[in-house]
Amino acid sequence: MVDDAPISAELFERAQRVIPGGVNSPVRAFRAVGGTPRFMVSGSGPYLTDADGRRYVDLVSSWGPMILGHAHPDVVAAVQRAAAEGLSFGTPTIGEVELAEEIVGRVPPVQEVRLVNSGTEATMSAVRLARGFTGRHRVVKFAGCYHGHVDALLASAGSGVATHGLPDTPGVTGAQTAETIVLPYNDVAAVEECFAEFGDDIACLITEAAAGNMGAIAPLPGFNAALRSITERHGALLIMDEVMTGFRVSAAGWYGLDPVDADLFTFGKVMSGGLPAAAFGGRADVMTRLAPAGPVYQAGTLSGNPVAVAAGLTTLRHADAAAYATLDANSRTVGGLLTDALSAAGVAHRVQYAGNMVSVFFAEDEVLDFAGATAAETFRYKPFFHALLDAGVYPPPSAFESWFVNTAMDDDALGVLSDALPAAARAAAAATR
Ligand code: PLP
Repeated sequence: MVDDAPISAELFERAQRVIPGGVNSPVRAFRAVGGTPRFMVSGSGPYLTDADGRRYVDLVSSWGPMILGHAHPDVVAAVQRAAAEGLSFGTPTIGEVELAEEIVGRVPPVQEVRLVNSGTEATMSAVRLARGFTGRHRVVKFAGCYHGHVDALLASAGSGVATHGLPDTPGVTGAQTAETIVLPYNDVAAVEECFAEFGDDIACLITEAAAGNMGAIAPLPGFNAALRSITERHGALLIMDEVMTGFRVSAAGWYGLDPVDADLFTFGKVMSGGLPAAAFGGRADVMTRLAPAGPVYQAGTLSGNPVAVAAGLTTLRHADAAAYATLDANSRTVGGLLTDALSAAGVAHRVQYAGNMVSVFFAEDEVLDFAGATAAETFRYKPFFHALLDAGVYPPPSAFESWFVNTAMDDDALGVLSDALPAAARAAAAATR
């Protein structure tokens, strides 16, 4: 590990004096990989530049939003125009109607949509709405699926059927997770059993449309459809969390690849264009239970912020068939390069895709759930990551994350990755526990 980033190191020390752990979101601190988190000062197309003046091919894309690459000129211009006209009004605006129409136009089961400020807010509000609509209490989620830091959804410990959620973090009480049931991902039998026992009490089942927060793990064929039929049979709502997959893996998100008509969907990331915006939407008869149309309260001072809406709308308007073809091609190229290098170095691995999200597991067999993800040889990731970082590539600083490509990645950027991978693969091969 070269870890030659003196200015970032100094900034990190300064940050740790005033910000817990020096970061505003834990994964940014590099705890899983060690070393100095890079403080980025600019981004352009497929590249990020850090405070030490080093340039990286960015395979994080701000954890998903930047599908067009960094500082896309049209998005920047739209933001500048919107900002010049006023930063926030606290009133309805034309832009938020246009963004809602764009989302509704892309995902047929979404008839109405409410804008919020983060994916966490979207899932929190969707669960509240599901409880308000059904009059029931329990929520079902899957181990390894992340839906933001909503208290009730942070429960992920648990094994077997109908494990009652245990709070995974201090500050989340047993009472807040007592009504959360955590099941293994991709296991229809576990869902059937759970609903057979608790079906009458279950307000909703929430799932990532395709899991991306334990690495990329696509639902097995028919899994999401089975969730639809089981929830419907028991009068529970199905919430498809498309915060990560939405408008990234196709024009209609995961729905475009696997059209399962959930009752509610959550969105964020891409539809924000990189500014703070997110959304939840779905069936009109459910959405109209929201205040002021209905009794379920939900609100936000900055919701539908005109600058964020301008960034999101412009990004979505550029996210056309050609953009998705480029994202798919770039993702396959990245996956192919990973496989070639790791195979050449003799490292057992699985490159997995969920649409154009890609990740690498240091495992012999396909990874289908959280147990499989955590059983992989993650100790190989740290030297792999640092060899890539030293060579000018910025992969996710954790083995349990998807890699996000963007449309700006060109032959030069992919060439940097291709040149960096053989040494990184050898570092992974040489890793010991
Ligand atoms: N849902 C999913 C599937 C996510 O991947 C994330 C964030 O990564 C969230 C919800 C939470 O979104 P945010 O970080 O904007 O609160």
